Amino acid sequence: MVSKELPFTKEKITEIIADHPTPFHVYDEKNIIANARRMKEAFSIVNGFKEYFAVKALPNPYIMKILKKEGFGADCSSLPELVLAERTGIIGEDIMFSSNDTPAEEFVKAKELGAIINLDDISHIKFLEETAGLPEIVCCRYNPGPLKEGNTIIGNPEEAKYGFTREQLFEGYRLMKEKGVKRFGLHTMVASNELESSYFIETARILFDLVAELSDELDITFDFVNLGGGIGIPYRPEQEQVPYDVIAKGVKEAYDEHIVANDLHPLNIYLECGRVIAGPYGYLITTVRHLKHIYKDYVGTDACMANLMRPGLYGAYHHITVLGKENEKNTNLYDVTGSLCENNDKFAIDRMLPEVESGDILAIHDSGAHGHAMGFNYNGKLRSAEILLRNDGSFVQIRRAETIEDHFATLDLEGLDKFE
Ligand SMILES: *Cc1c(COP(=O)(O)O)cnc(C)c1O
Repeated sequence: MVSKELPFTKEKITEIIADHPTPFHVYDEKNIIANARRMKEAFSIVNGFKEYFAVKALPNPYIMKILKKEGFGADCSSLPELVLAERTGIIGEDIMFSSNDTPAEEFVKAKELGAIINLDDISHIKFLEETAGLPEIVCCRYNPGPLKEGNTIIGNPEEAKYGFTREQLFEGYRLMKEKGVKRFGLHTMVASNELESSYFIETARILFDLVAELSDELDITFDFVNLGGGIGIPYRPEQEQVPYDVIAKGVKEAYDEHIVANDLHPLNIYLECGRVIAGPYGYLITTVRHLKHIYKDYVGTDACMANLMRPGLYGAYHHITVLGKENEKNTNLYDVTGSLCENNDKFAIDRMLPEVESGDILAIHDSGAHGHAMGFNYNGKLRSAEILLRNDGSFVQIRRAETIEDHFATLDLEGLDKFE
């Protein structure tokens, strides 16, 4: 069980709403920092630990700046994400650039920033060399494919579009060594929202094994392994937090067995998590507009899929609290909906809640990762503001809401008037 208690009161939210109308996402700085420190502390037992925050989960430079202060780097996957990192003062090897199907200008920018480039395909070695030039350090992403032993923990990566095959890794590192690359990294990521600690330990084992084989066969030295992201979060109250210390201990054991024993120490251990860093510390705040009673009972809110599309897209569960009714019994069965003309624009289906009235304020939990970031403008819906609830209880708007002018900014409406 995990507590779904809110880190703010209805009064605080009402105070924010006075300046910033709903819907908006509110992020809880205090717990973002506390969680970052928990992760660092747990992983301090492994060699050279660093977390590269996956920017795509919550691409807001204010959040990135908070995490930078905690010693986190940035895992970027596009040119705008690289620019955000640069603008936040995250540069050099504090950036991991893990892209796929990458255009030349992204490699050029990543190289210019001194980022660690994590290649997604063997053909990108030549492409990188021709476009940006090969840097001193390069990482390759491994796709374990159809694992011989049929690893039940890792699942079925052969369906995933990412990474090098095992054979391609040997060929790729050999080629890069010939071309003068001096330092190497090895990366993999084949799971998402994974709650099972053993998965990450198993991933580490696979990578450590491979580092040993590659180092031996090619006579190269690895600087680091990057275990990827994918640590899950307890969206449902009956789920449990992934214990960082269990993963860290398991990784350390595997390290001692495969790396220290093979004389390959020191090797740095990196993660590039997004969800577990930001997800639980964001809340979509929305006001109930209309109640509707047809074959089912609907709570209509002023937010929609454009603000949080995980429920509509994946049928994902997001906990909902009716502010000020935290201690009331869940007596009513509702579908909680948005206003998009799409029937899957529902934040919850068949959810038991206290009796809801028009004007009630809802907090939709765990919106901190892949929430605002996945927003879109379909149906002319505008993306909301983002508010940071600070350590000292004050709040600051860290992104304003979109306006109709923003929405039309890419249309030439004067041209329209002359258009016959
Ligand atoms: C999405 C992604 C991450 C972050 O995943 P989370 O599930 O948010 O931890 C990390 N690395 C890569 C390459 C990704 O695509």
